[in-house]
Amino acid sequence: MTEVVDTIFAAFHEAGGELYIGEPVTVAEHMLQCAALARRDEAPPELVAAALLHDYGHLVATEGEDAAERGIDTRHEELAHAYLERWFPPAVTEPIRLHVAAKRYLVAVDPSYLDSLSPASQLSLELQGGPMSPTEREDFEQGGHALAACRLRRWDDTGKDPAAAVPPLESYRDLLESLLRR
Ligand code: FE
Repeated sequence: MTEVVDTIFAAFHEAGGELYIGEPVTVAEHMLQCAALARRDEAPPELVAAALLHDYGHLVATEGEDAAERGIDTRHEELAHAYLERWFPPAVTEPIRLHVAAKRYLVAVDPSYLDSLSPASQLSLELQGGPMSPTEREDFEQGGHALAACRLRRWDDTGKDPAAAVPPLESYRDLLESLLRR
């Protein structure tokens, strides 16, 4: 099982150094910050793992980190889900799959939320479909994992501090191994 975590960590090392779409941190720094915020908020292990891995789709995507600026939605949440679901249970992979939907949901239900988004995240919001319609909101609320996805989303929006000092990737090895499908 160690090989799975090694594969994941290798992706961090290979592609995590790219800047995170218009933000002052790299993709790897961003993901580590999100995981640290989840730990700080005493999230369950599955959700800490989700925070750590939520942008795995950016690590394995081939479109480049400036895709949104070129008008492309890479659907990185679906890509991450496709990679990770063979290794981890839904409590890890569903919040990841839903973290973009959660942004569209929060914009629709909380008028102040849009202002809290970075310019890059506001740009990608339009490509991702903009605020949810009332029907979409209802489906999202009833679909399961909505609360976890919204918690992940808040960390996603916060974990962009160029000065943050966070625990290293290796500190999550045991947590990830404990969650792998047997
Ligand atoms: Fe993110």
